[in-house]
Amino acid sequence: MGFFKTCEIRDAQEIYGFSHQGVFAKEPIKKGESIFRCDLSLCDYLQIEDWDSAKTREETLEMFEKYPESRDFMHKYCYMVEDDLFDWPRNYIEQTISEGCMYFNHSCDPNCGFLAIDTSLVVAIRDIEPGEELTYDYQCMDTEASFYAGLNCKCGSFKCRGVLSFDFYRNLDWQKAYYKYSSANVQRKIDELKTKWYTSRCILKYYKTDDNNRELGLTVFKKIRKDDLVASFSDKNNICRDAHNIRHSDQPTCYLVDNEVFASNTYEPNTELTLNYNLI
Ligand SMILES: [Zn+2]
Ligand SMILES: [Zn+2]
Repeated sequence: MGFFKTCEIRDAQEIYGFSHQGVFAKEPIKKGESIFRCDLSLCDYLQIEDWDSAKTREETLEMFEKYPESRDFMHKYCYMVEDDLFDWPRNYIEQTISEGCMYFNHSCDPNCGFLAIDTSLVVAIRDIEPGEELTYDYQCMDTEASFYAGLNCKCGSFKCRGVLSFDFYRNLDWQKAYYKYSSANVQRKIDELKTKWYTSRCILKYYKTDDNNRELGLTVFKKIRKDDLVASFSDKNNICRDAHNIRHSDQPTCYLVDNEVFASNTYEPNTELTLNYNLI
């Protein structure tokens, strides 16, 4: 538990700015070696079995409002566990960190990743020299709705994406390199591109259902223009509510041509994209 290699958590404000820390190797590490495993008894994050209590994007934004003095802390550490579900350290009031996993910074050209079968295990994805900072690609956890989206990356790598947008999991070269180092959430998102494709200008958001449950619905994240392609069904003979995350409405915001879904109008962020399945 904790670090399997000699590492040091130290100040990294030269790279990232005020009060930032990072994890640095203190010995050579070979590709494939285990570096760190979350100590689940200490970990500040919720664990898989508690994800029911993870918060939606909207609930997270409400928390930012409710605890403005903890806003930066929550924003800095909250990550996606599933579509529209976010996890952040439970000590957000005290703003204390009790475990190593929170210190790994993002890089667009990382030297670490998670092992697919065990996302709490950080492994080296290439040889690492002493003194190098240990980083992973936050894209391995988050997709477009990430609270890190819009941040100006300071990783300094020649592969740096600049402003982070978290749509790189759609890139085939990225998938080839990082699928096996991604969280279950991101692996599922990559798999779903084949059957429930939608544009990176949308996200999935939870909506309350009539029976007081909740279900995901396709939602505008970045402005969409009239007649833009927003989604597609993989099988034009199976266009139904269950085949995609597009909900039904009698006054739909989208229309269908074959298996492709287009916006009926220009829509601002937070507009739900719906179809009238009774017309199909
Ligand atoms: Zn942890
Ligand atoms: Zn970068």
